[in-house]
Amino acid sequence: MKRIGFTTTIPVELVMASGGAPCDLNNVFITSENPSEYIDFAESEGLPRNICAWIKGIYTAVVRGAVDEVIAVTEGDCSNSHALAELFMEQGIPVHSFAYPFGKSDRLSFLKNEFEGLASSLGTTVGVAMESVKRTDRVRSKLRELDRLTVEGRVTGFENHITLVSSTDFNGDIDTYEKELDALLYDARGREPSTNSIRIGVLGVPTIFDDIYAFLEERGAQVVFNEIQRQFSIPSTNPDYIARYAEYTYPYDVFTRLEDIQKQVEERKIHGLIHYVQSFCYRQMQDITMRKHLDVPVLTVEGDGPGGIDSRTRIRVESFLEMLEAKHV
Ligand code: SF4
Repeated sequence: MKRIGFTTTIPVELVMASGGAPCDLNNVFITSENPSEYIDFAESEGLPRNICAWIKGIYTAVVRGAVDEVIAVTEGDCSNSHALAELFMEQGIPVHSFAYPFGKSDRLSFLKNEFEGLASSLGTTVGVAMESVKRTDRVRSKLRELDRLTVEGRVTGFENHITLVSSTDFNGDIDTYEKELDALLYDARGREPSTNSIRIGVLGVPTIFDDIYAFLEERGAQVVFNEIQRQFSIPSTNPDYIARYAEYTYPYDVFTRLEDIQKQVEERKIHGLIHYVQSFCYRQMQDITMRKHLDVPVLTVEGDGPGGIDSRTRIRVESFLEMLEAKHV
């Protein structure tokens, strides 16, 4: 079976319909035994120091043969993906392209063309992929339950993060993924809700810190919302499969994301938000707009390489939680 890698969330059902095994390259990098070594390797190959760690991790994963082909998302992801795709092409690695529209008008018709184009490039059709959609729909409805249980405090912020972030490729094997999800849901339904009183939402690209969720929970916080991870799970239930990707906020402008965040803050009764930003990522600039429009306190934290939270960030997070506790508890 051909392993088809991608640089960010794409309509995974098209890959499944083509008979390929989907593989989110971000997950290959971050779940590897030694992610820091992936970065060192990429830098030794000439990737600049001031390029974000995820790009370097993806580069290493691909050139070391994690996948046979790559889908590069050329609009709606990251401008670095263009040059990354060129590096792969230069090395003879087959690259398919997919784009999300920048503008709001005609979003759906733009996406329909992109879906048809990617399906054809992979050797399938959108019609054939509808069978895979039935399969993923069953899993996606369980992911919505997982998210509801997170709001109730029966699923931890980390469990929510890792399960939703892995739904981009279902860990390459949707049957095993679903079994593990069923086991987690069964266990979580029987748990007592968390007694941690500070309700936190985490915004931004998935954090490269491997211990931030444990750190927050040890200090009395409960993460009840992982913004981008939830979007990666394609939460829309629109009966039109392609329209769900028009409602998926991550590839579009910051205002589309803000609408979703504001709604979730209210519904989940969130006391404060942690906005995670990645060093050298253009999305850091969106922090300015977010802060202007959000009505709850926001703490922005920045991460660079894989590993634990640095001591300065620990102190800032602790002070933020103390402030929220004094205000709400
Ligand atoms: S964190 Fe930012 S710079 Fe890095 S791959 Fe993601 S979007 Fe691109």
